Amino acid sequence: MKEKLVEVGKLLATPKKIVITSHRNPDGDAIGSSLGLHLFLQQKGHNSTVIMPSEYPDFVAWMEGSESILIHDTHPEIANLALNEADIIFILDYNDLERVDKMGEKIAELKETVKIMIDHHLHPEDFCHFTFSDTKASSTCEMVYDFIVGMGEQAKINPSIGECLYSGILTDTGSFKYSTSSKLFRVVAELKDMGVDDVKLQNLLFNSLQEKSLRLLGYCLHNRMEILEEYHTGIIYLTKSDYELFDIQRGDTEGIVNYLLMMKNVKLAAFITEQPTIVKISLRSKGDFSVQEIAKKHFRGGGHKNASGGASFKGLRSTINKFKKVLPDYKQALDAL
Ligand code: 5GP
Ligand code: MN
Repeated sequence: MKEKLVEVGKLLATPKKIVITSHRNPDGDAIGSSLGLHLFLQQKGHNSTVIMPSEYPDFVAWMEGSESILIHDTHPEIANLALNEADIIFILDYNDLERVDKMGEKIAELKETVKIMIDHHLHPEDFCHFTFSDTKASSTCEMVYDFIVGMGEQAKINPSIGECLYSGILTDTGSFKYSTSSKLFRVVAELKDMGVDDVKLQNLLFNSLQEKSLRLLGYCLHNRMEILEEYHTGIIYLTKSDYELFDIQRGDTEGIVNYLLMMKNVKLAAFITEQPTIVKISLRSKGDFSVQEIAKKHFRGGGHKNASGGASFKGLRSTINKFKKVLPDYKQALDAL
């Protein structure tokens, strides 16, 4: 680990053209880690560009540098040019080029370009020159913090960088409800000492909803929730027409799946949504029950033990039924929790 950091430190000792990438539908951790690293690399005199496969949600738009993020879906030529010219490409908060579609195909072509992965998802693919994988880390933001500190550059973490990193930690841990460790609390204590205003960030990230989002949440809980007592499982689903009815945009459904786990008897939660071309499934669990296996085995996905996702091309009803059909395989494990 230390040797890898020393090697990367040597690479970063002279100005480089750097592209930082993260996953499709970027969340707080994807954007926070990318912009945190971006601001740090700029301070070190590098030419750094952040590219996301698709648009980011409004609740992270306040972060410094967000206005300069390139979106691969909407500007593929400019994004590919930046990737072509890069000396180094960072792979943040994802571990498989399949997670980033067309942008991944481009990155795969660039065999000579140095690739550095920093990620906390299970089972990283082996395609980078340097892979920093820590599946115990709360977030990629925590890992970027360790990366900067590990290179002896802690002094460069200014409040703007700290706010980005703290945000990804907050969103990926559900405000310190899961994936915590004593070390994480030391990291956030350091960030607070560096001037991060955690109460301000709570408001920016979580108390900035529009009325329609709260109405949508009420609708989900009242009309779209199904509880399968026998399997300790809850499902919430949304149809294409629900998306139109509530004018649902990126980020508007963030966190809805977690409400299911607020029920004592619910240990497995699924949020299944009908998207334009696919049906997306988000899975959450309590305790030692891993949703990663269900996501990988049945929905071409993956993620973490307690939070994973995947997709299906089979339509909403069939996807819900498929999910229900796999539950008997996991009944014993769910009963035992
Ligand atoms: P979410 O349910 O919030 O979209 O994602 C939860 C976790 O699962 C995240 O860590 C995310 O990276 C991962 N994840 C979500 N969708 C997919 C997917 O389609 N494939 C893989 N491999 N991981 C996913
Ligand atoms: Mn993450």
